[in-house]
Amino acid sequence: MKPRSLLDMTAPCREDFEIPFHEIGDPAKPLSLALVAGIHGNELNGVFILSRLADYLHGVAAQRYPGVKLHHRVLIVPAVNVLGLNLRMRLWPFDKTDINRMFPGFDLGETTQRIAAAVLKATREAFYRIDFHSSNLEIEEMPHLRIYDASEGERARAESFGLTILENPIDAVLTVSLIHAWKQYSGENFVLRGGNAGELQLEHCERLFHALLQFLHSVKILSGGNPPSIEEETHQFGAGQNFRLISDQAGFFVSKLKVGHWVQAGDLLGVLYDGYKGTVREEIRAPKNGLLLGLRRQPLVFQGDLVARLLIRNRS
Ligand SMILES: [Zn+2]
Repeated sequence: MKPRSLLDMTAPCREDFEIPFHEIGDPAKPLSLALVAGIHGNELNGVFILSRLADYLHGVAAQRYPGVKLHHRVLIVPAVNVLGLNLRMRLWPFDKTDINRMFPGFDLGETTQRIAAAVLKATREAFYRIDFHSSNLEIEEMPHLRIYDASEGERARAESFGLTILENPIDAVLTVSLIHAWKQYSGENFVLRGGNAGELQLEHCERLFHALLQFLHSVKILSGGNPPSIEEETHQFGAGQNFRLISDQAGFFVSKLKVGHWVQAGDLLGVLYDGYKGTVREEIRAPKNGLLLGLRRQPLVFQGDLVARLLIRNRS
């Protein structure tokens, strides 16, 4: 069966294309949950997680998993930037615009404005809405949940994912993002993030997939079977607790650390080598105790580049 499409588009010199989505569950019921990934076409983890979730939920709806029931209607858009995904590009390939800077969109506007309008129109009626992102090509992030200008409901519900939570205000850039557009409607809104763009990181995907399943059972969209129970210690952080470590000089940054672990002030985060002589220019150490949220994976560093992000207990 041909997948349903959010928006059909034509191109100057190729066949037409569309943004496919899944709608799973009883069509007579109100839309309970909308899940979106791939607004940035090179953020593969979210696209993979949502395509795998769609396969699982179609299986549940077809009663292939004894005892597991889907009680509500769920909408899944695995890849909004379909063309970017095919070309491994973050931005919309034709005009290089960022779809996550186009919300709330305009249904008579340019292509990315029409895409934004179609995504918002399809997802705004859901009570729960989740947008997936990775970090950029340079920094790997641990799997975590973000909430913005959170309501009491969002703050309480966030804990059901079993992930570390980062709560932020909506800044000027985010006012044209999907999360901001969603917040103009009643309901609860979340951003799930993990890994870095350009790669498929199975460990992060599994962690986020289990978090999503735990949420689906917690809000009773799913019931039965053996829902995952994540035993991991989780933490909550707010604005002013996200510490950015910037490099003083250029070089090759190499680190053996994994994201998502606590480091103590003075712990070695990585080594900066001279790219020609191979000598050590600097040992980069944690300036504070903190949870390693993000770490540079693109080794070529210039002066002033971000090397690591730490989530710290005390506000700075
Ligand atoms: Zn993104």
